[in-house]
Amino acid sequence: MISVIIPAFNEEALISDAYKAIANALDRYRIKSEIIFIDDGSTDSTWQCIERLSKICSNVCGIHFSRNFGKDAAIYAGLEKAEGDCCVVIDCDLQHPPEKIPEMYSLWQHGYEIIEGVKKHRGKENGFHSLCARSFYRIIGSAMHTDMANASDFKLLDRRVAEVLVNMPERSPFFRALSSWVGFRKTTVEFEVQSRQKGKSKWQVKQLVKYAIDNISSFSPAPMQLVTLAGILMVTIAAGLGIYTFFHPVNSQIISVILIFSGGIILISLGIMGYYLWRMYDEIKGRPRYIISGICEKRKKNE
Ligand code: UDP
Ligand code: MG
Repeated sequence: MISVIIPAFNEEALISDAYKAIANALDRYRIKSEIIFIDDGSTDSTWQCIERLSKICSNVCGIHFSRNFGKDAAIYAGLEKAEGDCCVVIDCDLQHPPEKIPEMYSLWQHGYEIIEGVKKHRGKENGFHSLCARSFYRIIGSAMHTDMANASDFKLLDRRVAEVLVNMPERSPFFRALSSWVGFRKTTVEFEVQSRQKGKSKWQVKQLVKYAIDNISSFSPAPMQLVTLAGILMVTIAAGLGIYTFFHPVNSQIISVILIFSGGIILISLGIMGYYLWRMYDEIKGRPRYIISGICEKRKKNE
């Protein structure tokens, strides 16, 4: 059996469409499935739609979060709930084509343990967004020694991989990168990013920036290394200036500018180090990844 994990945040218009499209794709190949919707603290009627669907369809179940915990937390809740021999994670907005699931499933049957959906193109993005996304994935990719440029959350994982992921103690896991980091036998399946059927993307610039900073700090020491580089640069400038002042008088204005500049660099460095400290503190507190406020189970066949 395959467990289909669908994170949903304010997707009332798409729950039943997503179910139909996924069920159609799986039924065509007679693949036995359970479908798990995770309502990530929606403020619209997403949860009511999931409850209604689970009453009609015996293989549908749902988890309701007490508030919005983010897509990664929703994916992890799905992985923990999944009972299938493999799990596939797919967006609710049908931007990941469900028709690719049977192809991924067949690769899993051939022994692959992770089948990653890789975007053929990054879909419609404006130039600035695309540049930021590329830089972000370059930093993460270089920290992990893999190409993350076209990575997505559309993945099929063997049960063992899912278990490894949910048993990691990280409180704020970055699913897309961690599922690459764990290793195992991997292959990829290319897909065209579809346009969103209904509703709108949940990402605002502020959230994207936070997402990028959080994930870079959890995978890469690059910002700390930048701090070291800035320190080396300042020491070099100071040494050069020190030698120069032996032979030439230096304007006091230049000295003030250099002092303010180095003060700025020190403050930025403190900020970066403070951020890493905060991340450590956040992990040490050990708060749960998410809080569940409601569950609707699959119906038994004779109910
Ligand atoms: N999503 C979620 N929690 C969030 C934001 C998004 O569960 O806080 C879900 C959303 O319902 C969708 C998927 O994650 O199923 C992808 O979200 P979206 O389409 O907004 O992202 P984009 O495709 O624009 O990257
Ligand atoms: Mg989307």
